[in-house]
Amino acid sequence: MTLDTPLDQWLHSHPLLGQLTRLEPLSWFNPALAPTAQALGDVPLTRADVDDASARLDRFASYLRAVFPETEASAGIIESPLLPLPHLHAALCAEANLPVQGALWLKADNLLPISGSIKARGGIYEVLKHAEDLALAGGLLTPGMAYSTLDSDAARAFFGQYSIAVGSTGNLGLSIGIMSARLGFKATVHMSADARQWKKDRLRACGVEVIEYASDYSVAVEQGRQQAEADPRCHFVDDENSLNLFLGYAVAARRLQRQLQAADIRVDAEHPLFVYLPCGVGGGPGGVAFGLKQRFGDAVHCVFAEPTHSPCMLLGVYTGLHDAVSVYDVGIDNRTAADGLAVGRPSGFVGRSLQRLIDGYYTVSDAQLFRLLAQMEATEGYRLEPSAMAGLPGFVQVLQEQQGYRQRLGLNEQRLANATHLMWGTGGSMVPDEEMHAYLAQGRKLLAGH
Ligand SMILES: *Cc1c(COP(=O)(O)O)cnc(C)c1O
Repeated sequence: MTLDTPLDQWLHSHPLLGQLTRLEPLSWFNPALAPTAQALGDVPLTRADVDDASARLDRFASYLRAVFPETEASAGIIESPLLPLPHLHAALCAEANLPVQGALWLKADNLLPISGSIKARGGIYEVLKHAEDLALAGGLLTPGMAYSTLDSDAARAFFGQYSIAVGSTGNLGLSIGIMSARLGFKATVHMSADARQWKKDRLRACGVEVIEYASDYSVAVEQGRQQAEADPRCHFVDDENSLNLFLGYAVAARRLQRQLQAADIRVDAEHPLFVYLPCGVGGGPGGVAFGLKQRFGDAVHCVFAEPTHSPCMLLGVYTGLHDAVSVYDVGIDNRTAADGLAVGRPSGFVGRSLQRLIDGYYTVSDAQLFRLLAQMEATEGYRLEPSAMAGLPGFVQVLQEQQGYRQRLGLNEQRLANATHLMWGTGGSMVPDEEMHAYLAQGRKLLAGH
C-alpha cells in the first residue's frame, strides 16, 4: 500500500491508525521482531565501527578536559550516571495496580556535561570526527599526538577556515553549536519555530549564528542543507541519515554495560533489561539501541517512546512507509511541548535498519509528560525536561500489554521479577530555572487533579 491508498483501507489493515490519529496514547509491540543475531545484519555498521568511535572519543578526552572544566571529574569522557528510582517505581506501580516487580532505573543523560542532553553523545561525536578528519588531512594532527594541542590559537585559526551547519529543534543545535564554536569552526544552527528562546540565546552567546524559521523542523533542516551544499568548506550535520551521529550514540552501550556491572545488575535471558528511549527523528534512540543489541543480544528489549502529537517513528514502522510518510499526512499536527521529539517524519535509515530489532513503540500525551515530570521531582528529586520523561511509563506499557508480546518472548513472571527497567532520561539540566519552575507548576497541577 502507498500514501494514495484510501484511508479506510489503511484502517482496515492497520487498525491502530484510528487511535493514533485520534491522538489517544497507545502501544504497539513489533510482530516482526527477530533474533538479534539475524537482525543486526540489517544495520550497515559493525561492532568494529562502534569500537572505532569509542576510541576516537578517548583520543579527544585530553582536549575536552582542557576546554570544558565540567568534564574534569570524568577525565574528559562525556558520560552520565545510572540512578535507581525506587520511590517513583513504587508510586507508579501503585497507581497502575501492578505488583512492584524488578527495578526501575534512570540513565541520567540530563546530566551529561557540555550540553545536558543525549545530543551530547551523537552531536559532539560528529563534530569531533569531522575535526579529526580535517586536522589529520591538514597536518595539524599526526597520529599519536596528544589532542589537547587542539586547544590553541593555531588550531582555532585552522578550523576557522571551515564551517559546520545543522538544522535543529534545539538540543542538537546546542551540542553541535557549542562544540563547533569551541574548536574554532564557524557554526550555523538553523532552528525551527518550536525551539526555545533560551537555547537560541545560549548559542548566540557562544558565538554561534542562529537562523530562525517560522516553520517546523524539516524546513529548518532543508534550508540548512541547501545553504551548506553551496559551500564546499561547510559540513552539514544530517540528523536523519548521519552514520557518525548514530555511532556517537551507540558508544553509550559499552559504557552502560560497565555501569550495570558496577551496580551488580545482571543482564541475561533470566534477567532481562528493558530500555525505554524517547524518539524524535530516531538517531539517538536508534544508535543507543543498536549498541545495546550488540552488547546484550536478545536479553535487552528496546522500546521507543513518542508524543501522541508526533508519533513519526511508530507511524513509519507500523505502516512500513518509513520516511515516505509524515504525521501531517494522517492529520496529526506535530505540536508538542516535548523539545527534541517534535518531529513529523522519521529517519528512513533508522526505521529500516532497526525494524526487526526494536521490541515496541508507544505514545504519551504532553499532559502525562508534565505530570510525570512533577512526580519524578516529588519522589526522587530529579529534574528532567518534558521530552525526557517519555521513557518513564514504558515499563507499565510492557507489563500491561495484551498483544501477546510477553508470551511470545517467554517473558514470564519469574523473568519479569528479575527484570531491570531503564528509562533513558534524555535531557534537562540546561533548562533555565524559570522555565523548569513553570514545567513543575504545570505538572503539579495535573498531579493534584488526578
Ligand atoms: C533529540 C532528543 C531525543 C531524541 O533523539 P532523536 O535522535 O531525535 O530521535 C530525545 N530527547 C531529547 C531531550 C532530545 O533532545
